[in-house]
Amino acid sequence: MIDPFGRSITYLRLSVTDRCDLRCVYCMSDDMTFLPKADLLSLEELERLADAFIRLGIRKLRLTGGEPLVRRGILDLIGRLGRYCSSGSLEELTLTTNGTRLPESAEALAGAGVKRINVSLDSLDPARFRAITRGGDLARVMAGSAAAAAAGIAIKVNMGALRDVNGDEIDRMIAWCGDHGHALTLIETMPLGDIGADRTDQYLPLDEVRRRIESRWTLEATGHRTGGPARYLRIRETGGLLGLITPLTDHFCAACNRVRVTCTGTLYPCLGQEDAVDLRAALRSGESDVPLERMIQPAIDRKPEGHDFVIDADHARPALARHMNTTGG
Ligand code: SAM
Ligand code: SF4
Repeated sequence: MIDPFGRSITYLRLSVTDRCDLRCVYCMSDDMTFLPKADLLSLEELERLADAFIRLGIRKLRLTGGEPLVRRGILDLIGRLGRYCSSGSLEELTLTTNGTRLPESAEALAGAGVKRINVSLDSLDPARFRAITRGGDLARVMAGSAAAAAAGIAIKVNMGALRDVNGDEIDRMIAWCGDHGHALTLIETMPLGDIGADRTDQYLPLDEVRRRIESRWTLEATGHRTGGPARYLRIRETGGLLGLITPLTDHFCAACNRVRVTCTGTLYPCLGQEDAVDLRAALRSGESDVPLERMIQPAIDRKPEGHDFVIDADHARPALARHMNTTGG
């Protein structure tokens, strides 16, 4: 699948649920209404969708959400998708998780062929973690990341940089990731969905963070890329990789190789634009995957050149009404 700007689309992020056991302040409001179950794709539909995308050339599949590991039966689905790793059709099957369900899931994930995962972790302080996630238990995430590491799964920690919330913890996180052999990616918050607060206060531009990091650590350029938007640096003192994702201060759209499908089967060619194609009707129209496949390439043909997020005093409202847990982070 090649889009109108010559970009080869090889990466699908598939949201398997909008539900989550946490309520991170930048992601959700505390009184979220979740989708009715009937709107969600069933596990069978999710599998058919993944099958179709893989036939059309997807080489990397990331499951996300909401929290993918709270979806009932998800480990069975991941187990079945694992056949594409063994056959070589998929280069990578992975997920983005908050880590709370990893203690009981890590071994099954490793067994399915999952080699790397992203674990979102914004603080190493239990009280602060509880505040950011509105009630989360840091000890579960620590146990989960230990279980994943013990199962041989490499971890990349995703830390959302929030000015007055965890801006002072970045050095500690760099050291912790270095000690545990995890890569670390710092992410600017994006204006997705109403969270019941003003995002201007939370926004911490990563160029400012980078200057602060450089006053304490030595950053070395690397050519390392994971096919994602992060640019990676190596921290000489820890040997760890540091990725910076800067949707706001520096667009990364030119190298975008990905599309997203929500847990209701809506294909978004771009995270930052409203344009979307509903694949669910095609999935539910019958047993054949032909109607589904026929809808995918035209959607890729509509992939825009880039997004246009802005957060400043004049743009305090969300640029897009949908939350990250709906689109899939
Ligand atoms: N629940 C899983 C997790 O937290 O890793 C997967 C879904 S979550 C929506 C995926 C990622 O999106 C997380 O790393 C989270 O920090 C990030 N995220 C959520 N809302 C965001 C926002 N408004 N801007 C930037 N990142 C956001
Ligand atoms: Fe849940 Fe992930 Fe959103 Fe946090 S960022 S509320 S863990 S979906």
